Amino acid sequence: MPAVFFHPDTIQTEWVFDTTRKGSEVAMHLAERGYHIQTPTLLTREVIARYHQEAYLAALETGIPVGLAESQQFDWDQQTWQSVIAQSSSMVAAVLHAQKHGRAYALASGFHHARAERGAGFCTLNGLAIAAGEALRAGVRQVVILDLDAHAGGGTHSMLSTWPNLRHIDIHTAPFDSYTPLAPHRRMYVQDSLAYIPAVTALLSELNQHVQAGDLLLYNAGMDIYAGCAVGGLAGISEDIITEREVLVDTWAKSHGVAVAACLAGGYKGDRFPNELLIRLHADSVARFCAD
Ligand SMILES: [Zn+2]
Repeated sequence: MPAVFFHPDTIQTEWVFDTTRKGSEVAMHLAERGYHIQTPTLLTREVIARYHQEAYLAALETGIPVGLAESQQFDWDQQTWQSVIAQSSSMVAAVLHAQKHGRAYALASGFHHARAERGAGFCTLNGLAIAAGEALRAGVRQVVILDLDAHAGGGTHSMLSTWPNLRHIDIHTAPFDSYTPLAPHRRMYVQDSLAYIPAVTALLSELNQHVQAGDLLLYNAGMDIYAGCAVGGLAGISEDIITEREVLVDTWAKSHGVAVAACLAGGYKGDRFPNELLIRLHADSVARFCAD
């Protein structure tokens, strides 16, 4: 059975922003659709410290120095630490569930720009790197991170580009946090909406000969590619294109027997991206990947 994870501590921080609040809204939306939302076990500091530097963790706990504690661009408060631990805990719970049962979704975001030593671009702890590392420690043969957020995942690449048994595939529609990928990783910057689905198709096809049943796909399912999203949106990217993308990834994973652990990633409401649509796009992705 697939599982959906959300930890209520996620919304404890006073900083009100999509990254710190929308997980709760997607959880409520899914509960109305009959989904049972599970609360993950909180990760210990020891686990987080396998991936992030001590000085950064201390800053997140104490707020000092403030420049480091707020390096993701949110104001620090006493609940920042528990909020970001909660987000990464959902992601790790999702990969461990997917390893055993095939599919899981973390209602969490704010991961892929974070470095080992600091945050960046609304991302505090890199839950993708933490979850990939914990999946490999748990015995997964290979982890493929598929990052389809509108922005590049330079933080993720900086943390795990030299790890064995890991591939990082990154297709983005905005230039922020771009980087030169080390082999065998792939990054593609798409600037024309008509080229988006062909790009996803091409990079998934490249993976065909490199994956085996039982491998794990860690999917960063950002909705900020949507044309109306003021932070990363690409003109011409419609709901239909996003649906087509989700079908492509779902079908590809099933056809290779690859487990999937997904998370919300980017997506920011605004004048041309109503909150109702944002929450529904995220919830529809959960429903697609976690259908019974
Ligand atoms: Zn983004």
